[in-house]
This record gives sequence, C-alpha cells and structure tokens, in this order.
Amino acid sequence: MNTTIGVIGLGLMGTAMARHLTQSGWAVTGYNRHPREIEDIPTAANLADLAEHNETLWLMVSDYTACREVIDQLGEAGIRDHVVINSSTIAPSESAEIAQRIETLGGDYLEAPVLGSIPQAQSGTLQLLLGGPEALIERLDPLLRSLGTPTHFGAVRSGAAAKLAFNQLIGSLTAAFAMSLGLVQREGVDVDKFMATLRESALYAPTFDKKLGNMLAHSFDKANFPLKHLLKDIRLFTQSACSQGIDTHLLIGLQHVLEDGIYAGHGNHDYSSLFESIVREQATTH
Ligand code: NAP
Repeated sequence: MNTTIGVIGLGLMGTAMARHLTQSGWAVTGYNRHPREIEDIPTAANLADLAEHNETLWLMVSDYTACREVIDQLGEAGIRDHVVINSSTIAPSESAEIAQRIETLGGDYLEAPVLGSIPQAQSGTLQLLLGGPEALIERLDPLLRSLGTPTHFGAVRSGAAAKLAFNQLIGSLTAAFAMSLGLVQREGVDVDKFMATLRESALYAPTFDKKLGNMLAHSFDKANFPLKHLLKDIRLFTQSACSQGIDTHLLIGLQHVLEDGIYAGHGNHDYSSLFESIVREQATTH
C-alpha cells in the first residue's frame, strides 16, 4: 500500500500516533488547529495544504464538534477522493452523521476509535475498533496494523459503540476501585495485604494496579488519558445507552464525581484523579 498520511490533531494521542507511523516508515504530515512544532514530524500550515498533499487523512481530535469543524473546513476540495480515518472517540450516532457527510463530499470513511493510550500508540500496540466497509479495511490493512491490532466490528456505528462500552468500563472500574481503596486506607487496613488478596481473587482487574501508584501518591499530573475526556465519554455512553433503553442511573454518580474533578482543576490530569473527588480530604479538628 502506497499512501501519504495527514494526521489532524496533534494532541496527546495524535502526536504519539503520528510519531509511531513515521517511525514505521509512513510519510506523515501533521496539522494542529493551534500550530504546534513537533520534533520529527513536518506540519502543514492549513488543512487545504494538508489535503492537497495527502490522500489519507487521520483524525484524532477531541470530540464531535472538533470533527465537524475539521470536515467543514476541508470541504469538498479536501475530502473528495480522500480516505478519512477517524480515531476520535465520538458517539455512534455522531460517527454515522460524519460518515454520511464524508460520503456526500466524495470521500471514504473509516471509523477507527482506539483502545489503549500513549504507551500503546508509541509502541504500535493499540486496539483499533473498526466500523466500515470490508473492502476499505482490507485496502488499509498494512497502515492500520502499523498502529496495532484491528478488529472489524461491522458497519459504521459499531466501532464507536464498542469504544464507548470499553470506556464505560474504564470509568466504572476505576471509580469502584477508588472507593474500596479509600475505605481500606481510612480503616487502617494494610494496603499491600488488601492488594495481594485482590490480585488472587476473581474481582481483580489489571487496571487497578496501573492506577494504584497514582492514587497512593496523589500524583495525577502526568496524564495519558485526561479526566475531561473520560467525562465526555461517560456522557456519550449515557446518551447512547439511554437511547437503546438501557438504565444508566449508576452513571449519574460517576458523572458527578468527574464534574467535581473538573471544578477542582483536574480536567487535564490523569482520569485516576477521580480518586480525589471520591476519597475527600477530611476536615481536621483542633
Ligand atoms: P488532547 O490531547 O486534548 O488533544 C485534542 C486535539 O483535538 C488537539 O489537537 C486539539 O487541537 C484538537 N481540537 C480540539 N478542538 C478542535 C477543533 N474545534 N478543531 C480542530 N481541532 C480541534 O486529546 P487526546 O488525548 O489526544 O484525545 C484525542 C481523542 O482521542 C479524544 O476523542 C479522546 O477521547 C480519544 N482518546 C484518547 C486517548 C488517550 O489516552 N488520551 C485514548 C483513546 C482515545 P488544539 O491543540 O488546537 O486545541
């Protein structure tokens, strides 16, 4: 496969993905709304330039509004005869609307949200959750495999739905763990013994150990996946699940916790900072 790739959105993930694609031998140019200099990756001054010189446009932007703004700016001139791969996390209904818009403008659309974060993007071990036509996925296979393991879930919507299902688990599992860890600490239970027992039980999830260090040290500055994006995804899951008749009352509390985190200034911190909203500082009595 011979194509040139324009990566749109040089945030945490877009930068790591662009860098790994470059290291894997692909010709990559980046573009960011607010211009950013990235070592080893040439950048285009505007979207028209990027589209003129690259057949494949890979979107990794915050949300649906960002996707729509990029596509509207690209317009027909920037979309016709291009392939648009979208790895931004958005709702199934939003992805379907974008697919229709791209098709109307004469381009091909592949929904490709990713499971995994910066380390997986850096090492090319993301899980790509694909929704779109089989023939397009086959054509893009070598490129997709450069970033990780592709799984074709079905038509557009299905990859986006799977991604929200996974991210609901990220939020719920992390919040559930934070509550239990909080009680263990406040009751003076030995955390090492608690963790050792948890690891041997059917209740264990590897993500608990991944986030334990952050929670014990109250250190959340180094974000792979920022809390503000988890809140976006829990809201998207809630809307999508409600529209399918699924009761999402359990997520109301999680949304409050994440909103509290935003108000407390943790929006750009790692999502495990939800621990601070759950295990609140206790007032000291003098
Ligand atoms: P990020 O660091 O916050 O970067 C967001 C990017 O979107 C920036 O390049 C930003 O450009 C761009 N953007 C925002 N609004 C825009 C607009 N209206 N027009 C054009 N560009 C716009 O986010 P990230 O962590 O890389 O995540 C990107 C997407 O991947 C999100 O949908 C997120 O949920 C998803 N995701 C993230 C992870 C992760 O671990 N971080 C993992 C899987 C999926 P500016 O710099 O100009 O604002």
